[in-house]
Amino acid sequence: MKIALIAHDQKKKDLIHFVTAYKPVFSEHDLYATGTTGSKIHEATGLSIHCFQSGPLGGDQQIGAMIADNSLDIVIFFRDPLTAQPHEPDVSALLRLCDVYQIPLATNLAAAEVMIHGLERGDFHWREILKKSKKQG
Ligand code: PGA
Repeated sequence: MKIALIAHDQKKKDLIHFVTAYKPVFSEHDLYATGTTGSKIHEATGLSIHCFQSGPLGGDQQIGAMIADNSLDIVIFFRDPLTAQPHEPDVSALLRLCDVYQIPLATNLAAAEVMIHGLERGDFHWREILKKSKKQG
């Protein structure tokens, strides 16, 4: 599975703790992240992560492009609902694309926890099966 990890500044610590706690699960998947989030998670966990631009510099849009390309399976995006973001339009666009393409999206720790247990159980395998069958036509 291809998983995107993003956290606004006030939520980065939470995401680092979350990924650290579930490192054995995350280590079995391909990880993508916005620049600062990705480098901090890599520093803390040693996991290999493909880092895009920082969010305000276009990283959210790059992740959105992966979704539009049907090459991302899960988005974990710890948003800070109490701080105005300079790139709010990009954030909204990314959330919108998740809905357009039916991408499972967790925007807070509680939802991410449910999602990660589903991932462990194999609840998301249907996405891979669907993708393969679409490729084969
Ligand atoms: P960052 O971007 O990981 O580069 O901080 C996250 C965001 O604010 O969208």
